[in-house]
Amino acid sequence: MAEQLGMEDVESFRLRARGWLKENMPRQPERRGPIQPGDDDQEWLRARELQKMLYAGGFAGICFPTEYGGLGLTPAHQRAFTEESRGYEMPLLLNVPTFSICAPTVLDMGSEKQKRERISAVIRGEEVMVQFLSEPKGGSDLAGVVTRATRDGDVWVLNGAKIWSTSAYAADWALCLARTDWDAPKHRGLTMFLVKVHQPGITLRRIKMVNGSTEFCEEFFDDVILPADAVVGEINGGWAVATRQLVHERTAVGGGSPYVSGEGRPNLQAPGYDFVDLARRTGQANDPRVRELVGEAWAMQKVQEQLIDRVMAGMAHGHLPGPAVSITRMFHAEADWKNADTGVRIAGSAAVTGRPGEAGPLDYGQQYLSRQSASLGGGSTEMSRNIISERLLGMPREYAADRDVPFKDVAQGRT
Ligand SMILES: Cc1cc2nc3c(=O)[nH]c(=O)nc-3n(C[C@H](O)[C@H](O)[C@H](O)COP(=O)(O)OP(=O)(O)OC[C@H]3O[C@@H](n4cnc5c(N)ncnc54)[C@H](O)[C@@H]3O)c2cc1C
Repeated sequence: MAEQLGMEDVESFRLRARGWLKENMPRQPERRGPIQPGDDDQEWLRARELQKMLYAGGFAGICFPTEYGGLGLTPAHQRAFTEESRGYEMPLLLNVPTFSICAPTVLDMGSEKQKRERISAVIRGEEVMVQFLSEPKGGSDLAGVVTRATRDGDVWVLNGAKIWSTSAYAADWALCLARTDWDAPKHRGLTMFLVKVHQPGITLRRIKMVNGSTEFCEEFFDDVILPADAVVGEINGGWAVATRQLVHERTAVGGGSPYVSGEGRPNLQAPGYDFVDLARRTGQANDPRVRELVGEAWAMQKVQEQLIDRVMAGMAHGHLPGPAVSITRMFHAEADWKNADTGVRIAGSAAVTGRPGEAGPLDYGQQYLSRQSASLGGGSTEMSRNIISERLLGMPREYAADRDVPFKDVAQGRT
């Protein structure tokens, strides 16, 4: 297939990547302490540095088009590179949301200028992008956002607040959904903007979570000035952009994004779920119950990999519609809960009493604290069930009192 399109074939790309990685990328350092959440400035600087190295070597943005700085290759090339990159230090922090959600949304919906500037900058390792979607009053009802952007001559003025923005403190740009027409029904009065994260009028605060991480942020907008060309897609056409963004998000969360390079989940503070290693470290490698748990986790992982392949192939060949990504998104949450439970079951009391500063069982205890993340991040599993029932199984749509009502007439925060 690649050859037919005049591209380097996957095997020779793989061999070239193998040689280049060996010569140029540092081996993954041995971790000496427990998992640290991705909220360390040094980690972000390092991720940008590593991305610059990939770019200089000609292995960045593998599936992004060449005109925006990518390589224009196929998901099979990306998969080969990811397989070869195991054991090397990779800029994994940039995978979600920069590469797998924000950049593809700009690619699908942005202006030519936005694509040329933003996509190529992230591929070069110069910029990080995040999402400003959820608001303090709720995240599931995304079309109900109340952050407002008002036109003032040539510019827009943004006021309101966003919350749960992963890693915003380390980012340069955000995709921000705001209401621009209060007379239109809720889905038809929204606009997506590309917003500079650090600029006058934006107050950003970091939120401390139970596991100590401060990677979540909240932002307050007070008369933030946005230029006219900050609009992504059409004015009042923001729902179409948000819908694309959510598809990319569910694809990323479900594990099927072709824009992710390298393996690992640094944003979700997960250990590598190496249950064989955990069983050995805790002296239980021969315990039949522990072996069963390890086997179950392995089987779950294989099912997940095959489900992702099946759904992605179904969508690529038109057998499955876009909302099918909610299936892999759901399975990801199920697998994550199961892994969190399995880790603590095997680690036992060492999951809470392990010595700080020592990698191992304590990681699994720490991971357990964010067990529910996978059922909320990327849209909740309840919303995924709604999508599967309504858009895949054709069941009746959920009742919505605010459908087709001008948004200014929709009751806000009242019962
Ligand atoms: C790890 C992680 C990363 C995140 N990163 C970002 C980010 O970068 N940017 C960002 O903007 N947001 C982010 N979020 C926020 C996330 O998008 C929201 O948590 C999510 O959309 C749910 O919104 P909410 O938490 O406000 O819950 P709510 O919308 O208040 O919902 C509360 C509960 O009610 C259920 N519910 C609500 N409506 C329905 C319905 N119609 N049918 C059935 N059940 C329903 C929900 O499923 C949920 O269980 C992140 C969240 C997590 C956990």
